[in-house]
This record gives sequence, structure tokens and C-alpha cells, in this order.
Amino acid sequence: MLVNRRQFLMAAVTAPTVAMAQENAEPILDRGFAQVTRMADGVYVTVAGPGGPQCLSNGAVIAGRDATLIVEGHFFPEGAELEIEVARMVSKAPVRAAVNTHYHLDHTFGNIAYERQKIPIMAHERAPALMKERYAALQRVDKGPLLAPLEKRAANATDPIEKRHLNSDLGALKWMYEAIDRVTLAYPTELLGASDFPNKIDLGGITVLIEHQTGHTPTDLVVHVPERDLVFTGDLLFEKSWPVAFDSDMISWRKALDRLAAFGRGTRFVPGHGPVCGVEVVREFADLIDDLHNHSEKMLRASASVEEATRRYTIPDRFEKFDMFSWDWAIGGAMRSYYAQRKA
Ligand SMILES: [Zn+2]
Repeated sequence: MLVNRRQFLMAAVTAPTVAMAQENAEPILDRGFAQVTRMADGVYVTVAGPGGPQCLSNGAVIAGRDATLIVEGHFFPEGAELEIEVARMVSKAPVRAAVNTHYHLDHTFGNIAYERQKIPIMAHERAPALMKERYAALQRVDKGPLLAPLEKRAANATDPIEKRHLNSDLGALKWMYEAIDRVTLAYPTELLGASDFPNKIDLGGITVLIEHQTGHTPTDLVVHVPERDLVFTGDLLFEKSWPVAFDSDMISWRKALDRLAAFGRGTRFVPGHGPVCGVEVVREFADLIDDLHNHSEKMLRASASVEEATRRYTIPDRFEKFDMFSWDWAIGGAMRSYYAQRKA
């Protein structure tokens, strides 16, 4: 999903705890498309900004005495190059790896910059197969026929709300297809499977724990820095935004949020997009997911089809100002997940 200007500006008003914690932290790098701030001893957080799509997702460099670890593959190689630059700037230690929090394009399409520097790319073991299936398989493929059915539906829609939703879906698909046609893919090289979790990495004076949670995708990794009370959530946490849920497992996602909330009051969370936040944002996002779940239950009781459930969802006032990238990727994806679980 895209981080827009509003979301960027909202940071100041929605995250007072974090604003306080960062008060004295001047950015060590400011590129317009991203700002890098020293968040804690040895932890440098990259927050994607509105000045360009190079990063698009947030990231980090975690620097210990013996090694550094990069978080995220970002959207363009320039985003990943920024992380390498930060790693070299703050430490002389070698880069242990760059972690992809999940396989999605805005978290992996910059990977080639790591490959060029021979930096290992760490991800969940299913990430490469999903990148091949969802992205590589569509390269050098004519996207016209893939877009045609949706284009037709959008053109024929008579209800203005329905038309707006379908156009948002069309915009999202076109954005994805353009990125697929542009990217030089680089696949994760260090794959983590069930027996590797929690994956503990000792960087020298600072430890990183990588855990596997599912919800947003089957490949979600949570990067926890216990000694600094910091958690990188990838897209398991959306801040003031509707989830991208087209390959979600919504029931697992809700459980993953409970586990995030259990980290406690002082923990700072770095979501995949948007500003660093506290546990209140985790709770707010859990409420939003609960609302989607309640709607699906209501629709199932009324024997509504999944398409009807998607169409009939209304946004509660409380979440009205939240960003949404695409109606189908948010509401449609969530409804399909709930419905599939009921049938299973
Ligand atoms: Zn994602």
C-alpha cells in the first residue's frame, strides 16, 4: 500500500508517546522518500516518506558490535541501497543479512541491491515460491486480458459507490502490474522454516528474535529487538489504514495482533507503513479487524454470497478517515478469508 501525505502528517497527532520518545532524535539521513532516525542504541529506523516510492515500506538497520542486520527489501533498489548506506555509516561490522518481513512487492522488489552487494536475504521459506507465482509468472505477460473483466465491470457499474470501489481495485492492479514489469527480482537466499523459529541472531551486545506469524500473508516475520523494546511488525500492523488482505488469514491475523498487544505499554512498534507507534494502535487495528469479522458473520447468517458481503460492508464512522488502497484488497480479501474458513 502507499503511504500518502496525510498519513505522514498524521504521525505527529496520532503517536504522542512516540513523538516524545523521538523528541531529541534528529534524522541522521533525510531523503524525502525516507527519513532515518536513531530510535535506540544501535537501532536506526527508516520511515518511508511521501517524497517518492523508493522505500515505500519502513525499514531499519540494527547494529551490534559484531554484525548488523537490515530490515526490509523495500520497493525500489534505491530503498535497499539507503539501508546499506546507513549500515556502512553507523558500523564497520559486516551486514549479517537483510530480512524481508514478507514476500509482497513493496517489501522485496528492492532486493536486487542486496544481491549485488552479496548480502544474504532472509525470509520465510515460502517467500520465494510466492514471489515466483505472483510476480515472476506475470512478467512479460500481456496484462490487457487480465485487466479486461474488471475494466468492464467498472465501466458498467451504475452505483457511484460501487464504481468508485471498482476503480480503486483497477488502480491497485495496474500499480502492481507496472511494478512487476519494471522489477529485476532477487529472491531470498536464507530461508527460515518451522524449526528455525524463534530465530535468534546475536549481533554482539544486541539480540534480534525473528518470529513467524501468519495473517497478512503466510510469510509474515516479526522482528523483535527485546533489549530495546522495539518490534518490527511488517504489514501485520496497519496504522490509520485498512489492511491489504488479499492473501490474508484473518483469524490468524487477529491472534497475531493479540500477541503483539501482549508486548506491553512501553513497546514501540514499527509498522510496515506509517509512523512508529505504541500498543494503542495495535488495539485500534484489532477493533477494525473485529468489525470486518462481525460483518462477515452477519452476512453468513443472512446467506449472502461473499461478493455480496464485500459490496454491503459499510465503513464505521470511527474508521472513516482511514486510508484504503483498494476496496477489494481490503474488504474483499477479508471477506474471502472469513468465508473460506467457514467452509473448511
Ligand atoms: Zn504487505
